[in-house]
Amino acid sequence: MRRLIAALLLAATGCTHVPAERPRAANAATWEAALEEGPRVEVIPLVTGEIEVERSFLLDFDSEHLHDRTDGKRYVPVLAWLVRHPEHGDLLIDTGFDHTFAESGHGNFGGLAFLVGFARQKPGHDTAALLRALGVDLAALRMIVLSHMHPDHTAGLPDLPKSVPVVVGRGAVESYGAPWYAPADHLAGIEVLHTLDLPADGGAVDLLGDGSVLALPTPGHAAGNLSFLLRAQGGPVLLTCDASHTREGFDLGVAPGGVEDRTRAAESLERLRRFVERHPAVRVKAGHDAGDWDMSRGIQDPL
Ligand SMILES: [Zn+2]
Repeated sequence: MRRLIAALLLAATGCTHVPAERPRAANAATWEAALEEGPRVEVIPLVTGEIEVERSFLLDFDSEHLHDRTDGKRYVPVLAWLVRHPEHGDLLIDTGFDHTFAESGHGNFGGLAFLVGFARQKPGHDTAALLRALGVDLAALRMIVLSHMHPDHTAGLPDLPKSVPVVVGRGAVESYGAPWYAPADHLAGIEVLHTLDLPADGGAVDLLGDGSVLALPTPGHAAGNLSFLLRAQGGPVLLTCDASHTREGFDLGVAPGGVEDRTRAAESLERLRRFVERHPAVRVKAGHDAGDWDMSRGIQDPL
């Protein structure tokens, strides 16, 4: 019996390879740097599949705004974001799902995930296929930036070239390997994780050096959590990523229910909300909101 439990625990932790971490030199910036000049990048959202989660994971039902909600499961989109810069080339924010989710309800999630179906994907809607359909040379991607390392954000990595630098917030690797739906070695073949030292004063990291793609530290949901501000063609846009899973949560100021640190998650969300209040031209896209997208399509309209 003890051996069985040990085997199950080993299966549940799942991660067989964790790369070395290497600090990446980065320019510090203010959040306002994304507003100082006009559009610079094309931002194309990719709906790479859906994952079934509890409503109380998406939104903190202990909030006074939501005390009358009843829990239950729902499918939400799993997103990746292609960012195309006229001089610096293409980069990817988060990696969505790889092709295996069209084949089974657990895709490349390992551990005990095969016991439950919780994901779905239309064939050809995996991240690599959608990028190819857009004419992206995968090997020429300048970088892959992960908002955090929960498996619904790393699951596209196995289909992407290992030569592309993977960039994460410092400490993000601590959140890799959620027990019940452990990644089945999403980091295989990746030797180094390039870590961003996020400014302690709450500033941003300017990923391309011209204010067009800013990574914002938004701790709370997961270790090393990031949101992004971009000078998109349609105007400035905030990708909250999982600092807010839904638009409703953002509007109400209710953080996700599934977080590592509730106080910090609430503070991060408040900070994003105050920024958007001060700068109402900034559009907001939440981390997992089906209402934002045409769910029949993998490639969405540029932001
Ligand atoms: Zn997520």
